[in-house]
Amino acid sequence: QDVIKDPDPSFYRMVEYFYHFAVKVAEPSLEEYLRRHAHFSDKKRKQRVAGILKVMGSCNSSLQFEFPLLRKNGDYEIVHGYRSQHSVHRLPCKGGIRYSDAVDLEEVKALAALMTYKCACSNIPFGGAKGGVAINPKKYTAAELQRITRRYTLELAKKNYIGAGIDVPAPDVNTSGREMCWIQDTYIKTLGHRDLNAAACVTGKPINGGGIHGRVEATGRGVFLTTTIFLQDEHYMNLIGLQPGYKGKTAIIQGYGNVGSYTAIYLEEQGVKVFGVLESDCNLKNPDGINTKELHKYKMGNKGSAKGFKGATECGPELLYEECDILVAAAMEKMITQENAGKLNCKIIAEGANGPTTPAADVILREKKVLVLPDLLANAGGVCVSYFEFLKNLNHVSFGKLSIKFWRDSNTALLDSVEQSLKKANIDAKITPTPSFQSFMSGADEELIVNSGLEFSMENACRNVKRAAIQHKLGLDLRTAAYVTAIEKIFVTYDEHGLAL
Ligand code: GLU
Repeated sequence: QDVIKDPDPSFYRMVEYFYHFAVKVAEPSLEEYLRRHAHFSDKKRKQRVAGILKVMGSCNSSLQFEFPLLRKNGDYEIVHGYRSQHSVHRLPCKGGIRYSDAVDLEEVKALAALMTYKCACSNIPFGGAKGGVAINPKKYTAAELQRITRRYTLELAKKNYIGAGIDVPAPDVNTSGREMCWIQDTYIKTLGHRDLNAAACVTGKPINGGGIHGRVEATGRGVFLTTTIFLQDEHYMNLIGLQPGYKGKTAIIQGYGNVGSYTAIYLEEQGVKVFGVLESDCNLKNPDGINTKELHKYKMGNKGSAKGFKGATECGPELLYEECDILVAAAMEKMITQENAGKLNCKIIAEGANGPTTPAADVILREKKVLVLPDLLANAGGVCVSYFEFLKNLNHVSFGKLSIKFWRDSNTALLDSVEQSLKKANIDAKITPTPSFQSFMSGADEELIVNSGLEFSMENACRNVKRAAIQHKLGLDLRTAAYVTAIEKIFVTYDEHGLAL
């Protein structure tokens, strides 16, 4: 109850609050589940439900460590690293690693808990984890960042906190394929040197290092797909008084990082007008619509800053309160607060970030009949495609339809004979000579498969959340519906595996 009144609650308490709120809703159906599956007295059944829920809500274990860094200028620094494994009911546990000044144990624990619920809600068979290093990466050279990353990985390896069957990190705020490569290399050359599946110790890797096509865009794509599914849902559009479909829709993007930018690009592709972008160092507006791809390119070439982009004008932070249909909250946690929620003029909030809305803001938004697409659901695209990458690494193959590719100068007689043998073996393959090495490496087939797999998973997750919302009469409260969906799944695993003894 204090959390709901707190204008600035701790992130971990926030997640705990959402969890416990949903537990109240889920309890009767969990009891019903036990009634059908086990012979307990009423008292024992209640105790078991309460017991499992208590264990499920607690964070399994956390690692906190410090290590030295000799800076380029000769200074010594102590770097603080963290990794929390919230739930190991399924292994490996999964979750990103972020580099930011704001990282501390509470934040990492909260994010690990969100990963547990997110994976369960989307049917991704992982436990939840998260890690972080408390640095502002902008203040370090690439060589220093590499040393930090390698040392961080060694600390995880020493404590058995990394490995394909244990715990698998991924990119998060301020980390990308580059850091994942360093992590992979450090692991393979130390603890993982005899592990045939060592490449699967981390996801979000560059393609050359065992990554998968479409992973970089996946979180934004998932946010876009979730938004699309609800935009096309007449029932939900009726509830908030919007015409179904993309037509005539407008959007503001809070946070134009990896998640925000790709969400914006996909929305714009479908005709949604993205007219505002809020960043930590500048806010941009263009009433005619911002060219989202151009802005993305500009930021990449401008040390990550959108400042100075010619296709829009700089404006004040009141941009957040302008009338729009979709607000994409893709910056950081606790950005939609008791203070600003009442002033928002949007119909839909798509949570690209983890934990962008405080419980107090959540109540205000519900009263205002804003449809909040919660983080557990909306940003699950990243970990979903991480799962595909993980499977690809375990299988030691690439995804994609059977494609046999030849060089431009391959002789046609050879192509014909290969085609014939494949036909004989009943393998349906299309043989096309590739024009260049580039297309040999392009992996376009893999990307198609990844994107359709992602679409399938997001549709499924949205369907389950909608079902929970209807079953428990939650109206627009999709956050609780998403938590309930996750709780019901994890509960069954705990019960079946006897995890709460
Ligand atoms: N960091 C991302 C998230 O918060 C991705 C995690 C993963 O792929 O393991 O969901």
